[in-house]
Amino acid sequence: MRIETLAVHAGHAVDAATGAVAAPIHLSTTFERDAEGNYPHGYVYGRSANPNRHALEEGLAALEGGEDAAAFGSGLAAASAILQALAPGDHVIAPTDVYHGVTKLLREIYLPWGLAVSFVDLTKIDEVRQAFTPKTKLVWMETPSNPLMKITDLAAVAEGAHANGASCICDNTLAPIVQRPLDFGADFVMHSTTKYLGGHSDVIGGAIIARKAAGLFERVREIQTTCGAVPSPFDCWLILRGMRSLPWRMRAHSENAFQVANWLADHSRVEAVHYPGLASHAGHEIAARQMSAFSGMLSFEVRGGREAALGVTAKTEIFIRATSLGGVESLIEHRATIKGEDPRTPQGLLRLSIGLEHPDDLIEDLAEALG
Ligand SMILES: *Cc1c(COP(=O)(O)O)cnc(C)c1O
Repeated sequence: MRIETLAVHAGHAVDAATGAVAAPIHLSTTFERDAEGNYPHGYVYGRSANPNRHALEEGLAALEGGEDAAAFGSGLAAASAILQALAPGDHVIAPTDVYHGVTKLLREIYLPWGLAVSFVDLTKIDEVRQAFTPKTKLVWMETPSNPLMKITDLAAVAEGAHANGASCICDNTLAPIVQRPLDFGADFVMHSTTKYLGGHSDVIGGAIIARKAAGLFERVREIQTTCGAVPSPFDCWLILRGMRSLPWRMRAHSENAFQVANWLADHSRVEAVHYPGLASHAGHEIAARQMSAFSGMLSFEVRGGREAALGVTAKTEIFIRATSLGGVESLIEHRATIKGEDPRTPQGLLRLSIGLEHPDDLIEDLAEALG
């Protein structure tokens, strides 16, 4: 099956009890035993398993091409689960520009817990190779990265990890469908399903998808049900509903972003545009190899720095000033004033999450705001 067909049907079945075409939401926290004390439907208690979560996990595994998936109450709960699946004393390699919440998780929770972490520029494969120690168990990738859209060579990093006996994971939040990290050697994919998978800015969630259901993933599953950071049945239902249109949405997000990026690149008030779909982007060649489209995220730098950039965000009428990404509505954000953001983020930088409006309206809005 092609990805569009999979997205519509994976995790979905007509409800056997009622014939309902849209899945019912199972709020029940507990499930009846039969007279012999067994659980005939396999469900016992809502923390350990729930029909809506099970359906979502099936859909997630199908879309990323993995054997299994575990859904969590947020992207960071998913990230936390795979870090916690390691043992104190293990070493992790992570990108210097990893999502700021993951930096915080590593520095404030998992360093004191006993993990060792090296932050490395993953776009420099020689530096990655030098960072391995005999205790390295996991390499964390995030591509395109935030907010400069730097591109990591998935296959090269995965090869390095495996040659050193480590696993690797890719945070694929910015590029679902258009980038399938398991095809390039990653062992795990992480998503903040809050973003493109949910797709409508109305649900928080996360997931780990595994190439093989064995090994480290068994520990992730145990952490999911034992530590209990599970998503609600309604949240699972919303995310799976969002995923049904994901391949078509990603196509439209990518086409819109390409047009906006091209237009910005020619604007006299714009110093730089960071979009992997532009031939001028440093990672374009690698991106073209491992992405089928370049997603809807881009950033650009306004001449004049912080004040000039904030002046632009004050004037947009269609772009909404808000953090997050991946929804149907376009967002604009001055990253340098976000709490916890990397102090190296350029002061004139604005990040755009390009939504599903008409690209001409988005361009007109930016034209007005840039003056
Ligand atoms: C939002 C985001 C996260 C964190 O996910 P939450 O759902 O907010 O916990 C992790 N990585 C990336 C790239 C993100 O954009």
